Amino acid sequence: MAQKLAAQGVSDRLVLSAMGTIERHRFVDSALINQAYEDTSLPIGLNQTISKPGVVARMAELLRNGASGRLGRVLEIGTGCGYQAAVLSLLANEVYSIERLRGLHDRARENLRHLAIGNLHLLFGDGMLGFEKGAPYAGIIAAAGGEAVPQAWIDQLAVGGRLVAPVSGGSGTAAKQALVVIDKTPQGLRQTVLEAVHFVPLKSGIA
Ligand code: SAH
Repeated sequence: MAQKLAAQGVSDRLVLSAMGTIERHRFVDSALINQAYEDTSLPIGLNQTISKPGVVARMAELLRNGASGRLGRVLEIGTGCGYQAAVLSLLANEVYSIERLRGLHDRARENLRHLAIGNLHLLFGDGMLGFEKGAPYAGIIAAAGGEAVPQAWIDQLAVGGRLVAPVSGGSGTAAKQALVVIDKTPQGLRQTVLEAVHFVPLKSGIA
């Protein structure tokens, strides 16, 4: 997987090493195991999907922004099956990952048990509110896309920190998602809009 990602242009060594270490087949249904190493998103139940490895690597690389060592604290919104959270746990000192669907939160816990990752904290709740107790974060990464970046995320980002999230532009059914990077600098926020992406919707509340 790391070789394929490198060929796609991912160059951050820590990201490539993390992607080569975390076994994606352990996070998908047994019926889908033979597709686990293809660059495609796959269903994980409750109408949600595990992101494409190419997108996980791309976002992780953006989040790291060329840092030499691990990032400090990172918040992930949308634990899903826990795959990206496991990857992030190798890229940051502490990872807080929050999921709004109880079924997936429990499933991620189950999937991650074999890895016994000490620096990964799985939370059940509405990630639109962020997770104040872990703030400020060096990085915030969202695996679900809303129409705007919630103010709570911006507030909980450290100065010098970076947020990477899919955001929908336009309106109604024609709304298109793009990857957005927001840097919180001492001079204020700097936003960059990157390529089109397809993520499940960011929803409020828990279920
Ligand atoms: N990173 C995941 C991708 C899961 S898909 C993986 O590696 O598998 C995105 C997830 O975001 C879904 O599980 C969805 O339930 C969750 N989600 C959507 N809105 C949310 C919110 N407000 N708070 C927390 N999780 C949310």
